[in-house]
Amino acid sequence: MPVFPFTEADPIRHPGPPPKTSAVVIVGGGIIGVTTALFLASRNIPVTLLEKGRVAAEQSSRNWGWIRKQGRDADELPIVIEAIRLWRQLAEESGEDIGLTQTGVTYLANADKDMAGFEAFMKIAATHDLDTRLLDADETAKLISGMSRRFKGAMTTPSDMRAEPWLAVPALARLAVRKGARIIENCAARTLDIAAGRIKGVWTEAGYIETSTVLVAGGVWSSLFLARHGVSIPQLSVRVTVAATEPLPEIYAGAAADDHIAFRRRQDCGYTLAGGGSHLLYLGPDAFRHAIKYIPALRNDPFGARYFPFAPSGYPDGWSTPRDWAPDSTSPFERMRVLNPAPEPVRLRAIERNFKQLFPQFEKARLKVGWGGMIDAMPDVVPVMDRVRAVGGLFVATGMSGHGFGIGPGIGRVVSDMIQGNDIGHDLSRFRLQRFYDGSPVRLGPAL
Ligand SMILES: Cc1cc2nc3c(=O)[nH]c(=O)nc-3n(C[C@H](O)[C@H](O)[C@H](O)COP(=O)(O)OP(=O)(O)OC[C@H]3O[C@@H](n4cnc5c(N)ncnc54)[C@H](O)[C@@H]3O)c2cc1C
Repeated sequence: MPVFPFTEADPIRHPGPPPKTSAVVIVGGGIIGVTTALFLASRNIPVTLLEKGRVAAEQSSRNWGWIRKQGRDADELPIVIEAIRLWRQLAEESGEDIGLTQTGVTYLANADKDMAGFEAFMKIAATHDLDTRLLDADETAKLISGMSRRFKGAMTTPSDMRAEPWLAVPALARLAVRKGARIIENCAARTLDIAAGRIKGVWTEAGYIETSTVLVAGGVWSSLFLARHGVSIPQLSVRVTVAATEPLPEIYAGAAADDHIAFRRRQDCGYTLAGGGSHLLYLGPDAFRHAIKYIPALRNDPFGARYFPFAPSGYPDGWSTPRDWAPDSTSPFERMRVLNPAPEPVRLRAIERNFKQLFPQFEKARLKVGWGGMIDAMPDVVPVMDRVRAVGGLFVATGMSGHGFGIGPGIGRVVSDMIQGNDIGHDLSRFRLQRFYDGSPVRLGPAL
């Protein structure tokens, strides 16, 4: 496992300067920006990706590494099915070992209501011919060895996969460059240049790029970046804590979770762990502005978030974070090259405790590293992938709501075709930006 997490102390692997012109400019070097750049470059379209810090240094390296169809929103499923095929193809093309393995994903049921939730997903799984199946208590105990607790049962999808995010996304960025994409790290996009309702260019901290097309794939920063241009996205971000154990004997080769603990075997034979329980939401101006849109999510899971009145300085929805800045002045993006929230000590202790309670044989195991991440959330827990109607040439793919890694290559392919005006092959109406403003009811996607 590399030194983790990535920070701005890591070397710049994709240096500037940015070009003077580019057919497409992508803002953000996470899985979404990188894979979109990769697919555009594969079609020989000149594309420049700007990353304010380092490729994958925010959500796209900090995630659990689950690549799952299981438990997905029905409208995401066709895209994630495609993504799984693309993961295999891209891993092969990259020629690098990204830890991609088909080892399955399993959700454990503590109560009958969990099994009832799984049964509801089984209907969706059947319409897509997934290999998802329900397990009874004995089958569950057999699948994951050495658990101290007996579960009611489980839902499992053996064809789901895992990969090492901190290896995968940088490897895909290198592949995109080999295909002709320009990637520039340590280079924030400051503002868009819009004239007569159309994109003309992008002001970066290292100069101006003339372009007719921009994709904003800025993760938790997308809303701040677009709001400066009058484009509102009801996106918020929540802080979560993750930990990694040292190598341990195998209890399950895949990824599994119940309400208390989530674990995923890694390539180095350790487990990546996270706790159940609530996320931490910092209350800033956007949290109040968009609160009404989050009421359905709040009603559905009243204890899903804890609240803190102030984000640390410089966070996307901080009280003191500027909402306006000039193209020739320092923007909030370059002030925070890598958003690197500390893991919460109380969460780390709970993760360790819950893991050891479930697997007492690991009583002596040690957590070798812990890290924090900010997840970009949408009110209905599904992403936005759309063109922005008010600004010609402006596209957005953001708000992956905690499950954008696995589906990432599918979204990259879809958005690259959207930009080219090609047939996309999937119904994207669920993911349109206008759903938040055209009176549509908030239809909640699954929470995990
Ligand atoms: C702890 C955790 C666990 C998760 N577990 C899973 C999982 O197991 N499976 C799964 O599918 N998903 C998981 N996710 C979610 C997944 O990681 C994200 O949905 C996904 O990585 C989002 O990718 P992205 O490219 O949209 O955003 P990001 O990876 O956040 O990338 C956005 C990038 O844009 C850059 N940027 C922003 N503004 C600017 C600007 N103005 N100029 C230049 N650059 C800019 C940022 O620096 C950042 O690098 C998890 C997330 C977290 C935090």
